Amino acid sequence: MKKIQMVDLKGQYEGIKNEVNQGIQEVLEETSFINGPHVHGFQKELEEYLGVKHVIPCANGTDALQIAMMGLGLKPGDEVITADFTFAATVEVIALLQLTPVLVDVDPETFNIDPEEIKKAITPKTKAIVPVHLFGQTADMDAIMEIAREHDLYVIEDNAQAIGSNYHSKNGTSKAGTIGDIAATSFFPSKNLGCYGDGGAIFTNNDELAHTIRGIVNHGMYERYHHDVVGVNSRLDSFQAAVLRAKLKNLDLYNEARKEAAIKYTKALQDHEDIITPVRSGDCDTHVYHQYTLKIKNGKRDALAKHLQEKGIPFGVYYPIPLHRQKAYVDDRYNEKDFTVTNKLVEEVISLPMHTELDDEQIDYITASILDFLNK
Ligand SMILES: *Cc1c(COP(=O)(O)O)cnc(C)c1O
Repeated sequence: MKKIQMVDLKGQYEGIKNEVNQGIQEVLEETSFINGPHVHGFQKELEEYLGVKHVIPCANGTDALQIAMMGLGLKPGDEVITADFTFAATVEVIALLQLTPVLVDVDPETFNIDPEEIKKAITPKTKAIVPVHLFGQTADMDAIMEIAREHDLYVIEDNAQAIGSNYHSKNGTSKAGTIGDIAATSFFPSKNLGCYGDGGAIFTNNDELAHTIRGIVNHGMYERYHHDVVGVNSRLDSFQAAVLRAKLKNLDLYNEARKEAAIKYTKALQDHEDIITPVRSGDCDTHVYHQYTLKIKNGKRDALAKHLQEKGIPFGVYYPIPLHRQKAYVDDRYNEKDFTVTNKLVEEVISLPMHTELDDEQIDYITASILDFLNK
């Protein structure tokens, strides 16, 4: 059996080697390392793939979130509602911009922000909602957009984990990251569309906002050496864009391979009383399985993790601590009883190896090891 990895970027590279190498060679020949033709080409191709008017590439997903919030003109003291159960980047940029993060609990089945909890957290200071499409599944965007319209709030999608996912809303099907006012994504190597270093992008259908953001990513310049607003320096480099062009062509295939692995995992594991396999929110959206995350009941998660380690099976616990209990983000406004779902999830979740190169032998070994342990 091939060694099992959490993510197998080498195996994936083998399949696109010629195209990636050629793209990198072209960047070298052109010596167009910054804002070269590959960056522009990738931007256009991603706009077309997503069906969105503007893609603005930048240096990483965390920058993308920050720049999106700067572009919307959010001001210190404005409240921004986001999920308690997510990667810290989301809340980090809110805090960095001196906005006030307001963390709310999530849905126990999809792990995504709970629209009912959003409603409860709205105050006159609330300016935006940041749904995170966690683990590859779009949040309940119909409900979130309705709340946003009613209360005149911006919606910033954190799409770092769900690129390529389709959302079937009342109004038709659209790609995750094209539904709210603006979205941020990451091309970190292990993401569903990852480069070979750092990268990120912002998406929007709003022309004016896109224009504002193109200036912000470039030191607030709209005309050379005229700095109209305080900006940042955040760029996708040309090598990364060349890699991303080769991978974007395969993104649907890659996501399909993840789905197939997920289906096999679920088939093998779904009937065990200690296991809850990932729930897809039915007619609402599709899942691209950035992570395949189980809930392990009856307090057995940590012992199972230890067993997997002994068996040479990598795993992840995303995320082990709720954000409202992280030192940097503790706040008197939070009350433990408002986070019952997240508080429980952090003790139950475990993510299995998930990538585009998993084979049946590996999946069988992983699922058999899990069942063996739980049946002991
Ligand atoms: C990866 C990730 C980010 C940050 O992306 P970077 O490119 O690492 O800065 C933000 N939000 C979520 C949900 C992520 O998974």
